[in-house]
Amino acid sequence: MKLLKDKILKDGIVIEPNILKVDNFLNHQIDVSLMNEMGKEFARRFKNENINKIVTIEASGIAIAALTSQYFNNIPVVFAKKQASKITDDTSYFAEVFSFTKGISSTIRISKKYLNEEDRVLIIDDFLANGEAALGLASLIKESGATVIGVGIAIEKGFQDGRSKINAQGIKVESLAIIDKFEDGKVILK
Ligand code: 5GP
Repeated sequence: MKLLKDKILKDGIVIEPNILKVDNFLNHQIDVSLMNEMGKEFARRFKNENINKIVTIEASGIAIAALTSQYFNNIPVVFAKKQASKITDDTSYFAEVFSFTKGISSTIRISKKYLNEEDRVLIIDDFLANGEAALGLASLIKESGATVIGVGIAIEKGFQDGRSKINAQGIKVESLAIIDKFEDGKVILK
């Protein structure tokens, strides 16, 4: 998606060998009109799939998912909550997710009220690295009996193995911008 790619090249900052900071349009300040266009593009790529729910993970996935929902007739958006402790109960589905940026594992949770076996779910997230967040979400969704139709990602780091792990589960991945590599502190897109 050209608009997003141009924005990454203009405003993205490579902060660690493998981390891109996009705080001024995605992760801290939000560029609503860009996000709207991203939502439109996800809808175009996943039309005809009878998606009736979007699932994401707090916090940065929420805005993208909410704006995307508008282009799927305002279907519900459910976001997994991250909790510090490993306490579980039988009113929610749980999964363990290792955070690429924080280097720690955390438990994510979605209430059983918000997923059911009729659901055809699109997972949305801001970044795809090693696929931990998306695969954690997919495992919760599958546990509920719902179907994961696909994963929509704003920015994929193509040099990490998230896509292949998700595809190995038979789940389609659509990314709006794919980073080939970081070179001398610069972003090289595919
Ligand atoms: P994964 O779970 O696929 O390994 O990593 C994706 C998650 O980690 C995303 O939800 C995102 O929050 C975070 N993440 C991974 N890589 C980056 C990055 O380069 N920049 C930013 N801002 N977040 C990232």
